Amino acid sequence: MTIHSNLRKLQTELPESVTLVAVSKTKPIEDLMQAYEAGQRIFGENKVQELKDKFSSLPQDIQWHMIGHLQRNKVKYIASFVALIHGVDSLRLLQEINRQGALHQRKIPCLLQVHIAQEETKFGWDISEVQNLIEKGEINKFEYVRVDGLMGMATFTDDEKQITKEFTTLKILYNQHQKTQGWKVLSMGMSNDYQLAISCGSNMVRVGSKIFGERQYAK
Ligand SMILES: *Cc1c(COP(=O)(O)O)cnc(C)c1O
Repeated sequence: MTIHSNLRKLQTELPESVTLVAVSKTKPIEDLMQAYEAGQRIFGENKVQELKDKFSSLPQDIQWHMIGHLQRNKVKYIASFVALIHGVDSLRLLQEINRQGALHQRKIPCLLQVHIAQEETKFGWDISEVQNLIEKGEINKFEYVRVDGLMGMATFTDDEKQITKEFTTLKILYNQHQKTQGWKVLSMGMSNDYQLAISCGSNMVRVGSKIFGERQYAK
């Protein structure tokens, strides 16, 4: 299977209301170009340096999403161009994004990452913390940040009931605040669980290996 045909297959499979983020982390420029030539314009990366390098080498009409954990001291490297930051998980990070947005005179689109998985290691706010932030109006006090919605990752398991439960929990939180907050994006679902995520109400999926093949990590 080629990148082109993988992508075409996905594009026909996804409902029109679902945005596809092609997760290209660790993949070479040539692979991204193949996806670009097949019409893909939204790419997701999880490392700041790699995101920055790829942004400089690839066509300007690509929208770059930062999908990984973002350290505050690295926001400055992507603030001028990043199209969406998926993994916002602290107020201090929001503050820094706001500061960088002000410097670049742009409102930076962000998603709040919510912890829905059983694993301790996954980043994100608890549901109750998000409720609290919203009640106190804390996420909307930043002039140069636009919170567009929520992002979450399910537990790494084959248990579809468990995954469904987690995605549904996030969808309920999203629905609760979508109108009053003006949210548009619910980012959930990866190669292994995007169909489930969509059936639970996701409108943005982050798919990597199903497009580009398995990733090779240096040992
Ligand atoms: C790597 C990654 C993905 C894509 O994973 P695949 O299983 O290759 O589709 C999606 N979201 C995040 C946050 C990731 O880090």
